[in-house]
Amino acid sequence: MFLESKANKDSKKGWIEVITGSMFSGKTEELLRRLKRARIANQRVEIFKPKIDIRYSDEQVVSHDQNAIHSTPVDSSGNILLLTGNVDVVGIDEAQFFDKGLSGVCTTLANQGIRVIVAGLDMDFKGKPFGPIPELLAVAEYVTKVHAICMRCGDLAQFSHRLTQEEQTIMLGEKEEYEPLCRACFIEALQKEKEQKKL
Ligand code: ZN
Repeated sequence: MFLESKANKDSKKGWIEVITGSMFSGKTEELLRRLKRARIANQRVEIFKPKIDIRYSDEQVVSHDQNAIHSTPVDSSGNILLLTGNVDVVGIDEAQFFDKGLSGVCTTLANQGIRVIVAGLDMDFKGKPFGPIPELLAVAEYVTKVHAICMRCGDLAQFSHRLTQEEQTIMLGEKEEYEPLCRACFIEALQKEKEQKKL
């Protein structure tokens, strides 16, 4: 994958940026901010997201504040390569739901001179690294960790605590299903749940 792609003729420089953090940390907002700024500079921008994210409209990357940009839903990371046209910037949202091939895809795009901006959850609801994100963090030039506010104590939060007992890792939801928590409150919450299961 790395050797296949050569820098294109006008030797544009590509790179990978990752925006990551818990739910309600403003990842999508930050992705949109960067993409809009690129657009203002007349750069050609394309946005992809996994087809699994069906919370809102199929055709839009929509952040929680309804700040929308048109996007293309794709089945697998490989399709991003097939669908990327003549662009300067590629944005990828909800990247945690893509397959493990995503870091290779982003590397190929960056090697072709494209600026790649990826947004996604760093950890699942159990606090474990999520899907292709860990590998992306390794290959990216720039990593931005954004934080939410802990709903229990007001500190910075980096965990997405699930409020329901659903065990499936891929579960999309809004405020009813998750709360952002700091480390101390997250550990406390997990401990309480463990004790409740014993009863
Ligand atoms: Zn807390």
